[in-house]
Amino acid sequence: ETLDKGLEKTKQNVFSKLARAVAGKSKVDDEVLDDLEEILVTSDVGVDTTIKIIHRIEERVARDKYVSTNELNDILKSEITALLTENNTGSNSDWVLPEHAHPYVILVVGVNGVGKTTTIGKLAYQFKQAGKKVYLGAADTFRAAAVEQIQIWGDRVGVPVIKQQMGADPASVAFDTLQSAKANGADVVIIDTAGRLHNKIGLMNELKKIKDVMKKVVPDAPHEVLLVLDGSTGQNAFEQARQFAAVTQITSLAITKLDGTAKGGVVIGISDQLKVPVKYIGLGEGMEDLQLFDKAQFVDSLFK
Ligand code: GDP
Repeated sequence: ETLDKGLEKTKQNVFSKLARAVAGKSKVDDEVLDDLEEILVTSDVGVDTTIKIIHRIEERVARDKYVSTNELNDILKSEITALLTENNTGSNSDWVLPEHAHPYVILVVGVNGVGKTTTIGKLAYQFKQAGKKVYLGAADTFRAAAVEQIQIWGDRVGVPVIKQQMGADPASVAFDTLQSAKANGADVVIIDTAGRLHNKIGLMNELKKIKDVMKKVVPDAPHEVLLVLDGSTGQNAFEQARQFAAVTQITSLAITKLDGTAKGGVVIGISDQLKVPVKYIGLGEGMEDLQLFDKAQFVDSLFK
């Protein structure tokens, strides 16, 4: 899906309320700001980020004495753009990988059901389309279905999947994957992990071990620790993001299922609160329904 189409619900159900809030008013006053606050909170931008945005607009109103409601959209757009954390882990206009990293290693974390496997499959597809040699590692050895699902995506996209039997040591799978990938001159390696948030110490140790073992094959790996979040769960996604950030260092986010949800505002809040860039967004179930996140494009789509 296209970004505009994918964000349609968020736009319609939420950001168009803004138009109603200012209808018939020429000046941004306390009432408009109250309405705006409610709109942002109910669109899953999150309370803290909403307060931040409202404060900035209040400051502007106090400074300029008069802010017309016609300007409000543009002000909001620029404030939201400023809050979105810049992606500095690579180009955002193309599926380009940093040259210094070979292979480029992405460790993928997230709880079950958020679209982790699908995102890995879509990433594999995009990188393959971009002419890269991709390897996948099935290090979520906790669930047999997880390994099967990764294999299905590997077959669909046409990239190798390195796996072991269920219950195997995830770090050992990661090690095997990196060794095979390196020996075969792979450009990018994407490793799935089990996201068992209910056992935080276990998860923390497991991820640490995987990272340590990776370095034995590729010294600066992982280059990216990607947390996958389900955007349609709104505040739950927020909570998961906080919990994962406490367990391991997250360097990028993929927010899935933005198609068909009105909770797209969650992208703004999570990016602001975590100070981690949203790098990818999921806009459907198909292989091609993953986009590199471009904050200007995203904000433009929301306010179009
Ligand atoms: P995992 O358990 O986290 O690995 O989740 P899966 O990758 O198996 O995805 C769970 C469900 O969400 C599947 O039915 C996917 O097709 C669906 N899904 C994943 N990403 C997206 C997305 O961006 N949009 C939509 N609409 N569905 C998605």
